[in-house]
Amino acid sequence: MFAKILIANRGEIAVRVIRACREMGIATVAVYSEADRDALHVSLADESVCVGGPHVQDSYLNMVAILSAAIATRAEAIHPGYGLLSENARFAKMCEACHITFIGPTAQMITLLGDKERARATMEKAGVPVILGTGIVPSARTAYEEAKRIGVPLLIKAAAGGGGRGIRRVNKLKDVPAAFVSASGEARAAFGDGSCYIEKLLCAVKHVEMQVLCDSAGNVVCLGERECSIQRKNQKLLEESPSVAVTPQLRKKMMRAAVKGARAVNYLNAGTMEFLLDKEGNFYFIEMNTRLQVEHPVTEFVSGVDIVKWQIRVAAGQKLTFTQEDVCLRGHAIEARINAEDAKNGFLPSVGKIRLLHVPGGNGVRFDTALFQDYTVPPYYDSLLGKLIAYAPTRDEAVRKLQAALSELVIDGVAHTLELQMDILEDKRFLQGSYTTDFMEGR
Ligand code: ADP
Ligand code: ADP
Ligand code: MG
Repeated sequence: MFAKILIANRGEIAVRVIRACREMGIATVAVYSEADRDALHVSLADESVCVGGPHVQDSYLNMVAILSAAIATRAEAIHPGYGLLSENARFAKMCEACHITFIGPTAQMITLLGDKERARATMEKAGVPVILGTGIVPSARTAYEEAKRIGVPLLIKAAAGGGGRGIRRVNKLKDVPAAFVSASGEARAAFGDGSCYIEKLLCAVKHVEMQVLCDSAGNVVCLGERECSIQRKNQKLLEESPSVAVTPQLRKKMMRAAVKGARAVNYLNAGTMEFLLDKEGNFYFIEMNTRLQVEHPVTEFVSGVDIVKWQIRVAAGQKLTFTQEDVCLRGHAIEARINAEDAKNGFLPSVGKIRLLHVPGGNGVRFDTALFQDYTVPPYYDSLLGKLIAYAPTRDEAVRKLQAALSELVIDGVAHTLELQMDILEDKRFLQGSYTTDFMEGR
């Protein structure tokens, strides 16, 4: 096992990884920006290194500074968390060159699966169902021809997109060429790669994703699904496991597809296969996230598996000590993301000092956060303040538990999405479980 790990991230996820390391007896190195000197992940780690200015380009994305910090502190491995460098193949490769273990899949897998069009083609070839669509579209003219074949409404998607960005909906065939040109230009500016593909837009579908865990001996287990259909602008707000729409038979089928997909690419470490599920029980692969997922705690609750610890063990070369047959999914977990955004004001990001913080607790309640009293939320980063997760034997009880926990949670000083989450939990469509990815539209 590693003696020391550097965590190349900040916020709640850095705290999450540091806690796992501490429980495993592994020393930790935090990296931080000049704006994060007083951040929780810095005080919780055994050592810390400032890697640059407040902007992520200067610090949390500064690969040379982060690797230098790892070398200087003799860290043997780097955990990238999610976002930032977690899906950066170049960084994974640089780690390898420095003989530092990147806790995640290989650079080659990240490159393959990070290209959403190539991932699609790979999965299709492996026999995993995909949505009617295209390969990389070379020109606006081809985009039009392909759109005619596929039919509207459709989505133009950036191959390099992620985090809900780089997706554009087109409703009318005549709008396709212009939309393609602007989507491609935007993708080039945002991701440094303008490649786009087209997918048929599926209506009234659920986002259901499967968590997989793979070791270097070729063992693959699937820890069941998470439903993440409550989204705003293709970004997840609330997640639950299991999904109301997934029957035991369907779960078996989806788990088999996820395992097949992971095996097809010789996947290593933790990953998530994302699918869209329609009313008829058909599911289609949309992408694979080659990293730890924001919503991993709901799976940890229902499976009893600590995903972060297993990421570390697998990266250290250890084999999974349980098989698919050992995976036992029990109870129901729901996660509410609390973002520093003003839901009543166009979800405008909010910054400021936390004047008062009260965190709920109790059996089956988990709050993953990096907040503390008098902490100042800086303007430079992701708006996630924390994730409140409730776990109970049944969905009804989990809903009530999350409602109770949300009503107890006090975060005073910045605008946030707590009330919105309360509203969602009282919505009939949510309670019935019939909700789809268009849930937030027109709310
Ligand atoms: P997940 O797929 O793990 O649920 P999200 O879909 O919310 O996470 O976001 C995907 C990834 O993109 C995450 O790793 C997150 O950190 C990152 N991300 C989310 N929002 C943004 C943003 N506005 N800018 C850049 N990255 C983002
Ligand atoms: P990202 O890489 O940004 O996470 P995804 O391809 O995973 O992008 O899609 C994000 C969300 O956009 C999905 O969860 C879903 O709600 C919606 N979406 C993506 N593709 C389709 C599609 N073909 N039809 C309908 N909705 C889609
Ligand atoms: Mg996605």
